[in-house]
Amino acid sequence: MRIANLSGRLTLLIDDLAVDVEKASDGLFSADTQAVYGRWEEFRAWAAAAEAQLPRGTEFDPADLGSPAPAPRQLIAAGLNYRDHAAEAGFELPDRMPPVFTKFTSSITGPVTEVSLPSGGHTDWEIELVVIVGAPTHRIAAKDGWKHVAGLAVGQDLSERITQLDGPSPQFSLGKSFPGFAPIGPWLVTPDELENPDDLELRCTLNGEQVQKSRTSEMIFSVPDLLARLSSVVPLSPGDVIFTGTPAGVGIGQNPPHWISVGDELVSTIEGIGELRQRFTG
Ligand code: ZN
Repeated sequence: MRIANLSGRLTLLIDDLAVDVEKASDGLFSADTQAVYGRWEEFRAWAAAAEAQLPRGTEFDPADLGSPAPAPRQLIAAGLNYRDHAAEAGFELPDRMPPVFTKFTSSITGPVTEVSLPSGGHTDWEIELVVIVGAPTHRIAAKDGWKHVAGLAVGQDLSERITQLDGPSPQFSLGKSFPGFAPIGPWLVTPDELENPDDLELRCTLNGEQVQKSRTSEMIFSVPDLLARLSSVVPLSPGDVIFTGTPAGVGIGQNPPHWISVGDELVSTIEGIGELRQRFTG
């Protein structure tokens, strides 16, 4: 199943066409996309039963999509979750827990956006697999991790490196939370749609040139393992968003470092899910 947030309304995508959930369910489910995660199993059961009788959907413009989780209670991001990225960033590999930070939720947007570059900043790209939590998750075992996932999306952990690394100890959360710095989308894909949700190719291009390419099977902490470790400390709620870390190929890892400029276009793609498209302005 795929769900989207189209013009602020919860939408089911069937054969790439949009079906408005509030209308199709006669009001059983509201148009509030974030609210559906609180009733995720009930929603999945309704969608599976209703699919054959639903009206034919309508075409839509990807520019009208919002984040499939527009207002999570928590957005948690993992750093250094790929060996090659930890090496290019000059850090030791994490053993028990990756470095964890947040992107403040005001930075969340949909998949197709224009992002204003912070003036005087060094803005960098980080393609990441995003997990949207589908059930209350606290102190779970890794073997149960996927059962707690509503679905997956593509994320960009845009990062302004001067702010991120400023001061006596790094400011990860602040440097990664400028407006528009957390595009998520283009929609949510449930794990059962994917042949192997633990092994998806991620790719990122800047102005058409490939800068990152890896597979999620290269993660140090897999999706279920990450949920187990994070939830050993923090109770996760339905609709919470997890950014799972980026592979090598970011701008700070290049020699000399390469930052995003005005007019650049960044495209972030994950196999079986879809793509994000960001254009940068001054
Ligand atoms: Zn990141």
